[in-house]
Amino acid sequence: MTPAAAGFQARARAAVCDPHLGAALLTATGKFGAGRLAVLETLPQADLVRDHARRIRAHTIAALHTYIARFAEAAERRGASVHWAPTAADATRIVVEIARSHGAALAVKSKSMVTEEIALNDALAAAGVRVVETDLGEFIVQLAADRPSHIIVPIIHRTKEDVAALFRAKLGASDDEVDGIPAMTALARRTLRREFLSADIGISGANFVVAETGSVCVVTNEGNGRLTTSAPRVHVAVVGIERIVPTMEDLGVLLQLLARSATGQKLSVYTSIITGPRRRPGAVDAPASGGEPDGPDEVHIVLVDNGRSRILASPSAEILYCIRCGACLNVCPVYRVIGGHAYGGIYPGPVGSVFEPARDRADGPSPLPHASSLCGACRDACPVRIDGLENFRQPQPAIGRIGGRWNFCRRPQRVKQSTQRLVEIEIAHHCHARQQQASARMAHEGFGYGTRSAAIR
Ligand code: SF4
Repeated sequence: MTPAAAGFQARARAAVCDPHLGAALLTATGKFGAGRLAVLETLPQADLVRDHARRIRAHTIAALHTYIARFAEAAERRGASVHWAPTAADATRIVVEIARSHGAALAVKSKSMVTEEIALNDALAAAGVRVVETDLGEFIVQLAADRPSHIIVPIIHRTKEDVAALFRAKLGASDDEVDGIPAMTALARRTLRREFLSADIGISGANFVVAETGSVCVVTNEGNGRLTTSAPRVHVAVVGIERIVPTMEDLGVLLQLLARSATGQKLSVYTSIITGPRRRPGAVDAPASGGEPDGPDEVHIVLVDNGRSRILASPSAEILYCIRCGACLNVCPVYRVIGGHAYGGIYPGPVGSVFEPARDRADGPSPLPHASSLCGACRDACPVRIDGLENFRQPQPAIGRIGGRWNFCRRPQRVKQSTQRLVEIEIAHHCHARQQQASARMAHEGFGYGTRSAAIR
């Protein structure tokens, strides 16, 4: 059993008996679920778009090694530095080294689940770098020394009264400053604005990265992602390797679904597409008027494996299609009662119940895949139609015993031709059989990747 899953039943039992938590969860998840349904109705031929999004994800994951190499090459061509991180420890060491090399004392950070997964804040704190979370929910989580309990709504388990008390205790807020959500948001904004302006590095995750252009796409609703990635001199994007999409056109398809499925919006308020560092005057691709007026001098992209290539070769590979929208959490009758902390890991709900045990090197079966009523609501809600039920049915000892070496390379290093070749050889060797199976299944299901649906032709 994974450490994350140990104690699951006790935590779930405690959560079920917490009426405050239950009311908060039902209200918030109900609101997001209803919003998702309403806004999907505004998307012409939504089912066809979802089918096509699934084809994109299936194709990308089946040829992941190709797109990783293509992305790295394109990103470096545009001036970014790409780093491989086979493990969480490698990823944190790389980011700490980047911070140290710039003498960084303060890092601002936008919301990122993969940095939670690798415990980046702890590693930076140990290296003497103060980290400030700038997403409002994550800022509150950090002030409270808490943990996120939802993929996109980290404080779904907290009420506004909780937050008011926290701001009084930690920020010395006056009564006026905590008199309602707008006042508390304004206080957080004033506090964070100072941090943005004095930060040495900005750290983000990525909702997607685009192999065709080497771009990093970050979507937020608060504008903090934009400030994090453009105000400090150095931007570090920490990215799970499965977040790649082949082209900008594919990105457009997935963006049509991400915000709709996550928050019931047609599009998030801010969609930032970052391609390399700021262009200097005279650069080949600089604007005709001269260099770019803002943006970081350096962009580093850390591609994190941390068990994903093991999942790629496992019966649970389909979970890598996930675009982290959180829709499956909002409709899951188990998550809606026990909340995210009961799962014990970083990723809760149906997606976490498959992803966490498959990623961890577990010695025995995990109880998490059994945190399901087998109702199929997660599959119905999932924009890329991941079959959670099918994944839940995988024999647990098999998930636990998937072993061997599945890392992309034997030691992390900057991308070089030889490394790309090593990546390709290793992945091709280990995953050839899985890719053959995936390709055969896609062909059987009529998933011709090049076929555009009528809705998006
Ligand atoms: S499994 Fe599907 S519904 Fe759940 S977070 Fe991932 S993409 Fe969204």
